[in-house]
Amino acid sequence: MNVDQINQLFQVQRNNRYQLRKSSAAHRIDKLKKMKDLIIQNKSRIEDALKADFFKSPLETELTEVMPVISMINYTCKHLKKWMKPHKVKGGPLFFGTKCMVSYESKGNVLVISPWNYPFQLAMYPLLSAYAAGNAVILKPSEFTPETNKILIELIDEVFTTDEVAVVVGEVEASQALLELPFDHIFFTGSTPVGKIVMEKAAKHLAGVSLELGGKSPAIVANDFDLKVAAQRIAWGKLVNGGQTCVAPDYILIEKSREQEFVKYLIESIKLFYNEHFELNDDYCQIITPRHGKRLQDLIADSKERGAKISYGGHLFNNNKHEPTIIQKLDFDHKIMQEEIFGPVLPIISVDSRKEMVKIINEMDNPLAMYLFTDDKDVVEYFQSNTTSGGFSVNETLLHVGHSGLVFGGAGKSGIGRYHRFEGFAELSNQRSVLIRKFDTKMSYFYPPYTEKKKKIIDFLIEKFHYLF
Ligand code: NAD
Repeated sequence: MNVDQINQLFQVQRNNRYQLRKSSAAHRIDKLKKMKDLIIQNKSRIEDALKADFFKSPLETELTEVMPVISMINYTCKHLKKWMKPHKVKGGPLFFGTKCMVSYESKGNVLVISPWNYPFQLAMYPLLSAYAAGNAVILKPSEFTPETNKILIELIDEVFTTDEVAVVVGEVEASQALLELPFDHIFFTGSTPVGKIVMEKAAKHLAGVSLELGGKSPAIVANDFDLKVAAQRIAWGKLVNGGQTCVAPDYILIEKSREQEFVKYLIESIKLFYNEHFELNDDYCQIITPRHGKRLQDLIADSKERGAKISYGGHLFNNNKHEPTIIQKLDFDHKIMQEEIFGPVLPIISVDSRKEMVKIINEMDNPLAMYLFTDDKDVVEYFQSNTTSGGFSVNETLLHVGHSGLVFGGAGKSGIGRYHRFEGFAELSNQRSVLIRKFDTKMSYFYPPYTEKKKKIIDFLIEKFHYLF
């Protein structure tokens, strides 16, 4: 699509925004259910597409791409009618005779920009949430997943008309052309540097933004916790999707005396999951492009040159699968500790105390997720109250993202805004305050001139009710 066609599409959707706002809950639910049926019918084609794009295993696609979208649709269909109703609110004595409510109305035109790493889930989830909130939506998926994009276009075209939801594919230039347009809201999922560009562009039109970004999410193994169990849960969270998960544990914090035993269990878990035949293993993902694979190799080489120890793995195979890799004896000036890794490479940082762990976490940007392994509630309280992150998960990795009752989003440099459940609907709605005067209560008593008599009435009301608003 060229720039003129993109502008034209935007205009078509803009002309339709008030029609969409007026659509009923039943109509929106109907469309969502139609999409759900289509996704279920085309499940194996979706799995094939992700396999073609980066060799993602069909079961992993089912668990991490298809199921989250289906449960999002189920949850939204169950609650949408209630969410769309104005939420009534009560006020103080001054509001006697009025009816007040917060009305969740569509924002208008929403742009969704999605990444390649969960190309189905992270396109569909925000797109369907934005549609459920009554918006017209343009989706711009990542250029690195052409096969998944074909299915996205097919399903979306079957359920929606172009003036409701449309897909624009293309390189970065397509995103850039879209970002010039006066959308009412931009929902971006991707890297922190591109998130900053999106926010800058949004500022031109003062568009609302939701930025779902990345960061370095630590996994902390406290002294009381079983090392074997922690190693298994961390290895799973790190290696799903070939380590290319925004909430994957990025690095480990552990006390020095437990480091070696933990590494032993980590290697055991990796072998248990993938049998060491990473190159040939159908359950193990590729790195998305050779350029992304080389980036991981450069990070490892940099640490190696500066004296780090590669305790396990380290190779990039010809088919662009990257061996799970463990690195020890690192320093914070190594490149790998300065940027999000986004691959199956796991640095272990060993320290002397909990205090030191908190200091390390707080010297970096706020992470998207934080994982803590402990059964001691004082330790939980210590880490939770002394750090900030988008999500906080105790004795588990990744699962909090899939829970339809929990909100999702970052904090500071790992993101702005929340989605999933009602908060996602609210994020993509204009929360309009509505006050309706139902009958006259002689409000004119409060109009100027402010006479002594009026002051006495106000004083009396405050004394009686203690508040007015
Ligand atoms: P990316 O930022 O490179 O690209 C994301 C999208 O932005 C793509 O559609 C791309 O075409 C577009 N884009 C790239 N450069 C652009 C530019 N200069 N101007 C406008 N648009 C541009 O991210 P990615 O490599 O696709 O995904 C990986 C990143 O996304 C990681 O940092 C990861 O942590 C993050 N991520 C975050 C979440 C989350 O929910 N918080 C989920 C998945 C991935």
